[in-house]
Parts: sequence; C-alpha cells; structure tokens
Amino acid sequence: MIKIAIPGSAGRMGGMLIREIAGAPDLKLVAATDRPDSPFIGNDAGEIAQTGANGVLISSNPEDLFGSADVVVDFTSPAASLHHAELAAAHGTAMVIGTTGLSASDESELVALAQSNAVIYCANTSVGVTLLTQLVQEVAAKLSEGWDVEILETHHHHKVDAPSGTALALGKAVAKGRGVTFDDVADMVRKGQTGARKHGDIGFAVLRGGDVVGEHSVIFFGDSERVEISHRATDRAIFARGAIRAARFAATANSGFYDMTDVLEG
Ligand code: NAD
Repeated sequence: MIKIAIPGSAGRMGGMLIREIAGAPDLKLVAATDRPDSPFIGNDAGEIAQTGANGVLISSNPEDLFGSADVVVDFTSPAASLHHAELAAAHGTAMVIGTTGLSASDESELVALAQSNAVIYCANTSVGVTLLTQLVQEVAAKLSEGWDVEILETHHHHKVDAPSGTALALGKAVAKGRGVTFDDVADMVRKGQTGARKHGDIGFAVLRGGDVVGEHSVIFFGDSERVEISHRATDRAIFARGAIRAARFAATANSGFYDMTDVLEG
C-alpha cells in the first residue's frame, strides 16, 4: 500500500487526485492540506472531493504532509511547491510536482533539492503530451532550416500563468531538437511595430476562455506546406491519472530528479 499526501486538496487537481486514490486498491490517502486561509481547513478531504468521508481532515500545516506519507503529490502554486520540496528534502519523502508557472531558477532549485529523495517534476502529466513532446523534438530536428515554429495553447479562464507550462516545455523540445538555447529564440509577446518575424524564433500564442481543459498545437510553417502536431485534453482526469502513475514510480525510485518520460520508461 502506497501512502499519499495531497497539498492543495481543496483545489481542482487536488480533488481529482483524491478521487483517483479512492478508486485505487494499492493507494491510501494519509494527509491533506490547503492554504491557511482556505475555507476548507478542518473539513474531511473525501467529502470535499465528493468521494465520501475518509477521515482525513484538511490541515493548514505543511508539516502534516510529511508525517507518514511515502509520496506527496503537489498541484498547488509555485511558492507552495518550492516550500513543500524543501520539506520533502529534509524528510527524505518522495514528491511528484505538477504545479506550473515555476521560474527557471525555481526549477534549478528543485533539481538541487533532489539529493535524498525522488522528485518527479512535470508541467503536464498526461501520457499523450509526454509522447507529443518527444515527437516535437524529433520533428524540430528534421524541419529546421526554412521552417518557422509557432506554438498555440488554449486553456480555461481560471488559469493564472501564460504561456502554459506545457507550451514552454514544447518550446524547449523544439529548441533542443534544433540544438539552440530556448531563451535566445523564444518570442512570447508581439504587439505594435514588431518588425518581421526573426528566422529561428519560436513564437507563442495564448487563448483563455470557458472550461477548456488544455489544447496545444505545435505548427511548423514551411514554404507552401505546414505540419501541425496537436493534443487536446477533454478531461482533467488524464493529468491526475498520469500524476498517480508518477507517484507509483516515485514510491520505489532512487533519489534524484525525474520527469514524465522517466515515468513512462520506468
Ligand atoms: P486550483 O486553484 O484549483 O488549486 C490549487 C490549490 O492549491 C487550491 O486549493 C489552493 O488553495 C491550494 N494551495 C495554494 N497554496 C497552498 C499552500 N501553501 N499549501 C497548500 N495548498 C495550497 O488550481 P488547479 O487547477 O488544481 O491547478 C494547480 C496547479 O497545477 C496549477 O499550477 C496548474 O497550472 C497545475 N496543473 C498542472 C497539470 C499537469 O499536468 N502537470 C494539470 C493541471 C493543472
């Protein structure tokens, strides 16, 4: 039995994860937290996630996540995830982090912290997007000279960061495939007199609205032809299922920093 703790348990992904855990015979929810000013502190985590009461009360103390859990699965905010990663390192507890919007220095800190525990960090835990990212890197290596790459993403109106963590990961895959530094070629903002598109840039476009779970397209524009590779998520459960697969991997993994590709290959 793998014991799991969920910070952000009253959130959209937190609820999804608790529902997945409730349906899995090899998993047990042992702790749940949310931010100190959450109206759900003290409530039963199962009732809030609509699985029925499970006796785990939502706490505001992050230390409670590290009492008995084998793995902490964190979909919260960048600041909260970093704090939890520091606590996980101190306790030697494995972690899966799905939070997006982390800066490059936040990501470096996560890598540095993963010395005495396994940390799986992934801005998109869906199996489909993990494969899409690999495919995009391969295509970008082949369609390099004379091809312009644009990345288009659409998400629901609650999303607080842009471009999405997945769009950035896809951009990094393109840069890797082409052997260039992502920060040198990423073009995230276009407004006013931008001048002509620079050859080699990776452009980003962002749409926000309604209840769209997540859509990503990587478009390679050539002369007189276009290659488009897309992924559409229609149910957030895919992210929760992927995160749970990562949690099972984390429970037995050696210390170190991993991504979703490691989980799929593991
Ligand atoms: P949400 O706002 O519904 O939930 C976030 C929860 O975290 C809230 O309940 C909030 O109160 C809680 N929280 C904030 N600070 C906290 C703290 N210090 N301690 C404990 N809990 C805290 O958001 P969401 O839609 O569930 O998304 C959460 C994160 O996961 C976002 O960064 C989102 O982009 C990301 N996400 C990633 C994937 C993926 O595949 N990796 C998929 C969906 C969402």
